[in-house]
Amino acid sequence: MSDTTRLRIAIQKSGRLSDDSISLLKAIGVKLQIRDRLLIAHSTNEPIDLLRVRDDDIPGLVMDGVVDLGFIGENELEEKMLERAAANKPSDFKTLRRLDYGGCRLSIAVPNELDYQGVQSLEGKKVATTYPYLLERFFAEKGVNAQAVMLTGSVEVAPRAGVADAICDLVSTGATLEANGLHEEDVIFSSKAVLIQKSGELSADKQAMINRFLPRIDGVMQAKESKYIMLHAPKAYLEQVKSLLPGAENPTVLPLAQNDETVAIHVVSTETLFWTTMEKLKALGCSSILVMPIEKMMG
Ligand code: ATP
Ligand code: MG
Repeated sequence: MSDTTRLRIAIQKSGRLSDDSISLLKAIGVKLQIRDRLLIAHSTNEPIDLLRVRDDDIPGLVMDGVVDLGFIGENELEEKMLERAAANKPSDFKTLRRLDYGGCRLSIAVPNELDYQGVQSLEGKKVATTYPYLLERFFAEKGVNAQAVMLTGSVEVAPRAGVADAICDLVSTGATLEANGLHEEDVIFSSKAVLIQKSGELSADKQAMINRFLPRIDGVMQAKESKYIMLHAPKAYLEQVKSLLPGAENPTVLPLAQNDETVAIHVVSTETLFWTTMEKLKALGCSSILVMPIEKMMG
């Protein structure tokens, strides 16, 4: 039997969520040694085991309490909740964080030649999808009688293959749809990756470890959105310069050695500094304007 004192985290083995989930764990200080074919990966510096599985299995593993945490797309999570509700199984878990990757939408897409006037146009038609529960909920909300046809893969070829009249699939850019003569019509669910925890109490040690990691996750996500901006500015135009800097109510203003007319300004900004703004700063006499990425942030 496995060591129950180690935190168990379910993660997609290979697919669209794998790399970003592993990068996030590494960014918060969890060292990992992953061997491609193995189901389990151990952390080398924390009492953590990764269970590497198909994403379909992750919600159930968390809800059944087999693992402590899971990284999963909200689309998959919501579908599994509906599936379990239909089978009278409870779906207990806590969402700890909505993450900044895995963004996509579950959308209805139709062949370009279909005259689509809204979801009512699908009345009596067949729609291929990997997410029958989410799709049927949408049809029920809209009062449309259409049939969800379950396909676990190659959903986008279903209309051409004569298996369905339209599809309901995950979209991020729309390129796959276009390549198959389809286009997106209605977004039925917008999704990102989330970190979920099983319900019920964990041991004090495990909970303390999670509580230590959550601010780190926040710090990593915040850092990705933020920039560190540095520049030299003429003292005489300090107010004008400050008003041009995005999201900088209280920048740090530092004197420069042997230069009474110029100051250095440092600011952390959550907004981008556009080229046009940099040009305006330069026109005011600013120099050495630097915009730098931030790796980590705390407090
Ligand atoms: P598995 O073999 O683990 O079952 P899968 O084929 O079901 O993999 P992936 O295609 O790797 O799944 O997608 C995993 C998740 O990534 C999706 O459920 C969704 O949350 C997210 N995702 C982000 N962008 C996209 C996209 N463009 N297409 C599909 N999924 C996306
Ligand atoms: Mg899957």
